[in-house]
Amino acid sequence: MVKMEKLVFATNNSHKLRELSQIMPPDIELMSLSDIGCDDEIPETGPTLESNAAQKAFYIWDKYGLNCFADDTGLEIESLGNEPGVYSARYAGEARDSNANIIKVLENLRNETNRKARFRCVISLVIKGQETQFEGIVDGEIATEKHGNSGFGYDPVFVPDGYDQSFAELTPEVKNGISHRARAVMKLVEYLRKNRNK
Ligand code: IMP
Repeated sequence: MVKMEKLVFATNNSHKLRELSQIMPPDIELMSLSDIGCDDEIPETGPTLESNAAQKAFYIWDKYGLNCFADDTGLEIESLGNEPGVYSARYAGEARDSNANIIKVLENLRNETNRKARFRCVISLVIKGQETQFEGIVDGEIATEKHGNSGFGYDPVFVPDGYDQSFAELTPEVKNGISHRARAVMKLVEYLRKNRNK
């Protein structure tokens, strides 16, 4: 394992933190932003998932000098030219309202037969100021209406390939086994293991 006292996950999203603590192996000490006393609204103003993830991770490295990682995720819908993509959180406006975002997606896909979509997650890991990125993708389809109550964001309308239930109907264990974030995190963990003691 890369030698590190703490690995900060640069997010304020409690859902993501819960998911990540279920995915991370116990030998990695995961710290949240509140654990390090950071309550800043970390800027994410880049034009791509890659640039946003890097911007968030370097914000923590530059300000606190702590090894950290940040993720940025987009829902890419094929028939909408991969929209909302990097604008997924603000698709229906600056309020970042998940329900409004879902309504806009369903509206834009009304009468559309090609409902193929994917979540793409990019993780930026910064260790001692050096960045490495990891990508995780889960393919699926956008349902015609909301289903289920668990999860967050676009989960109620995203049905992963090979399942007939939405992410919000599947158990957290099932979602965490196949999700975009889980796939990117697995690559991150693999990298940390391979670079043990470097
Ligand atoms: P973020 O920039 O990674 O925080 O996410 C961008 C947008 O994608 C937000 O609207 C999130 O709610 C949504 N999102 C990210 N991950 C997931 C997920 O696992 N399920 C559903 N929506 C997600």
